[in-house]
Amino acid sequence: MNNQDILARSLRAVWHPCTQMKQHETLPLVPIARGDGVWLTDFDGRRYLDAVSSWWVNLFGHCNPRINAALKDQLDRLEHVILAGFTHQPVVELSERLSRLSGLGHCFYGSDGASATEIALKMSFHYWRNTGRPQKTRFVSLQNGYHGETVGALSVTDVALFKDTYAPLLRPSAQVPSPDWRLAAAGESARDFALRCAAALRAHLERHHAETAALILEPLVQGAAGMGMHDPEYLRQARALCDEFEVHLIADEIAVGFGRTGTFFAHEQAGIRPDFLCLSKGITGGYLPLSAVLTTEPVYQAFYHDETARGFLHSHSYTGNALACRAALATLDIFEEDGVIEANRAKTAFFNQAAAPLQAHPRVKNFRNRGMIWAFEVAGAAPGFARRFFEAGLQHGLLLRPIGDTVYFMPPYVIGEDEIRMLVAGTLEILEKI
Ligand SMILES: *Cc1c(COP(=O)(O)O)cnc(C)c1O
Repeated sequence: MNNQDILARSLRAVWHPCTQMKQHETLPLVPIARGDGVWLTDFDGRRYLDAVSSWWVNLFGHCNPRINAALKDQLDRLEHVILAGFTHQPVVELSERLSRLSGLGHCFYGSDGASATEIALKMSFHYWRNTGRPQKTRFVSLQNGYHGETVGALSVTDVALFKDTYAPLLRPSAQVPSPDWRLAAAGESARDFALRCAAALRAHLERHHAETAALILEPLVQGAAGMGMHDPEYLRQARALCDEFEVHLIADEIAVGFGRTGTFFAHEQAGIRPDFLCLSKGITGGYLPLSAVLTTEPVYQAFYHDETARGFLHSHSYTGNALACRAALATLDIFEEDGVIEANRAKTAFFNQAAAPLQAHPRVKNFRNRGMIWAFEVAGAAPGFARRFFEAGLQHGLLLRPIGDTVYFMPPYVIGEDEIRMLVAGTLEILEKI
C-alpha cells in the first residue's frame, strides 16, 4: 500500500463525511497508515500533529498502549452481546463509574453523539407524556448550537450549512440567544452578557413552557459554532429557569465532557446538575463509537411500570458494545491513575504561556481558552481561508481544521511541551502566509 494507491481507491470507494466530494479533485485526501500519541503518519512516513484530536474524540493519543492492552484482553473474553435481556461486566462497571462521576444514573447507550441527542429528546418527551403532560412536545436550543445531524438532532441544531437543505424534513424547534461572548456588546462582560441572554431564555419560557419539554445546550463551549465560549453563570441561570418553568435541562457534553473544559464535566463549573447528560466522543478515548445518556431517578421512575409502552422502547444494535465499554473503562482508569484533570491544568498554563505570541499577533482576535480548548478568529481572513489554512497546516506537519475564520486547537491531552511549541510556531508561520 502506498499514498497514491490508497487515495485513488478511497475516492472511488468511500463517500467521505461532511465533504463536497468534488473538492477532492484539487484537495488531496490525507492517507494515514498509523498513529502514535499525537502523531499521524502516512504511507511515506510524513507525520502530522493531530491538533484536533481527530474530530475532538482522542484524549490519550493514538494507539495508546494502556487502552490497546485493555481492548486486547476484552477481545478474548467477549466482543459484543445483545443488551436487551442480557448484561456484561464492562457495561455494568462503566455505568456505575459514570454514575459516580456525574451524580446521575440509569445509563442508556447509543453508538454516536447524534444518537445520544435523539435518546435524550425522546426520553424527555416521553417522561412528560408518562406523567400526564403530553402537550410538552417542543424543544428549545441555543442559537448556533450543534447537537448532531440525524433528523431529530438536526432539528435542535442551529448551523445553517448543515440544516437549511433538510429544513423540510425537520421538526420546528425554537432557538434562544447564545451567551457566546463574541456576540456581546462592546464593553459588556461575559457575565453581564450571560445574564442578558438568560433574560431572553426567561422570556421564551414564560410564553412557551407549557408546550416545552426540554432545553438542550452545550455547556461552556459551543464547539461547531467555532468554539464559542460563555460564562458559567448562564448555566446556573438556565438550570434555575428550567426548574421554575418545569422544563428539562439536557447537557450535551458530547464534545465538552471527559475533561475537555478543565473539569471532568463542563457543567460542574456552574455547580449545577442537568436532567439528562449526553456523552460520546472522548468517552472511549477516541477508539470506538459509543454514546451514553444518564438521567435522574424521577425520570427513570416515570418509565418503570407494568405497561410495556410506558417503557423506553428505543434501541441500537450495538447498544452497550463490550469492546467500546472496555475502551471507556481503560480511559477512566487513565484519568484516575494519572490525575489527568490536575495534570491538564499545568499543561493548559504552559500552553497559554507558549501561545502568548499568538495572542499578541495583530491578526488574532478573541483569543480564548477553556481547559484543553483554544480558539481565535483571524482578522482579514479571505474567502476559502479555512481550506487554505488546513492545506498550509499539512505542509507544516499540523492537522488543523479551522471553522470559518476561527482557528482552534483541541489536542489530545498527551501533547508534550515540544509539540505545543511546534504547534504554536507552525500556526504563527501559517498566519504570515494565509
Ligand atoms: C460531535 C457532536 C455531536 C454529534 O456527535 P456524532 O458522534 O458526530 O454524531 C453532538 N453534539 C455535540 C456538541 C458534538 O460536538
